[in-house]
Amino acid sequence: MRVPFLDLHAHHAPLRAELDAAIAQVIDRSAFAGGPFVAAFEAEFAAHCGARHAVGVGNGTDALWLTLLALGVRPGDEVVTSPNTFIATAEAISFCGATPVFVDIDETTYTLDPKLIEAALTPRTRAIIPVHLFGQCADLDPILDLARRRNLPVVEDACQAHGAEYKGRRAGTLGVAGCFSFYPGKNLGAFGEAGAVVTNDEALKNKIQVLRDHGQAKKYYHSCIGWNARMDGIQAAVLSVKLKHLDAANARRRAHATEYAAFLADCEGLVLPIEADYNRHVYHIYAVRVPNRDRVLAALSELGIACGIHYPVPLHLQEAYRFLGHTRGMFPVAERCADEFLSLPMYPELTAAQVEAVAAALKQTVGVAPEVYARAV
Ligand SMILES: *Cc1c(COP(=O)(O)O)cnc(C)c1O
Repeated sequence: MRVPFLDLHAHHAPLRAELDAAIAQVIDRSAFAGGPFVAAFEAEFAAHCGARHAVGVGNGTDALWLTLLALGVRPGDEVVTSPNTFIATAEAISFCGATPVFVDIDETTYTLDPKLIEAALTPRTRAIIPVHLFGQCADLDPILDLARRRNLPVVEDACQAHGAEYKGRRAGTLGVAGCFSFYPGKNLGAFGEAGAVVTNDEALKNKIQVLRDHGQAKKYYHSCIGWNARMDGIQAAVLSVKLKHLDAANARRRAHATEYAAFLADCEGLVLPIEADYNRHVYHIYAVRVPNRDRVLAALSELGIACGIHYPVPLHLQEAYRFLGHTRGMFPVAERCADEFLSLPMYPELTAAQVEAVAAALKQTVGVAPEVYARAV
């Protein structure tokens, strides 16, 4: 059985008429850049998160960058974050002229280890960005406590955590702001690029609204140098349709995670995802860990099972950040995990038969010694 990593077509097929009608409405009203469909989605998304405000922007990277700019992050500043994330988290820091300061991750949740943050703070630290990786929140309470003591804002990178919860509260609403991406493959995905910032802080919301629109609150009167980071009307209309189905889709992801865990419980040499007791994980990615990852990935591919790696190189070892002078061994947990991560197919429309086929193929592959595998292929 062939199993794709992701199947957006299967996700959109039952919603197709509704999505087509939503796009047609935007065309009928020519509301393409910002406008009423963006405002409507912002209100709906804020309500879904349980936040007072949402500001629609061009993508998740813009959401992070404009939030940091609005918080006053400037050249020479430092922002603490995880090395185990998509590069956009660090790029947003760098595009403020600031320096990302990495702190190693917790080996069970793969998110920022709260115990290690304090030692990384300096007089130049301006913010902390926990990344809710794979759909699970970082352990926010100790991070928020430390941030309060040191008078630092916490910006949540919730780009993989739409609808996830930390102690009953939705991801993105615990820090001063939560940044979301609606890249097509995310749990809530647009038909192109889009993102949003959610916040309860009205002043921060106003600043981000101005920054996303060339520094203008009133047309052609520019109070600061901003950027073009508006959300498209078509993306907002599509997102409004898809938001109504997000909770059900996340519930199905969680059900598949339970099925995977049951099939794989007895598979030796495999580390399964661990859902911390304070979390409601939404499984944007279902990442297991295997010591001989690259061989397993290749073998699964031969069997028609499409897997991924999120992410093969931690940020401190990326060429783009070589100038920071980091070396292997500085963040050992992130490094070990990057060598072992293997993301299994995960999307709401997976069938029980597909989950079972993936699990069976994985068990067969993990259990086979390298010499035997070499002969078999
Ligand atoms: C996707 C993602 C981003 C960036 O979002 P874009 O919409 O692609 O700009 C940032 N951080 C994390 C953790 C992501 O997964």
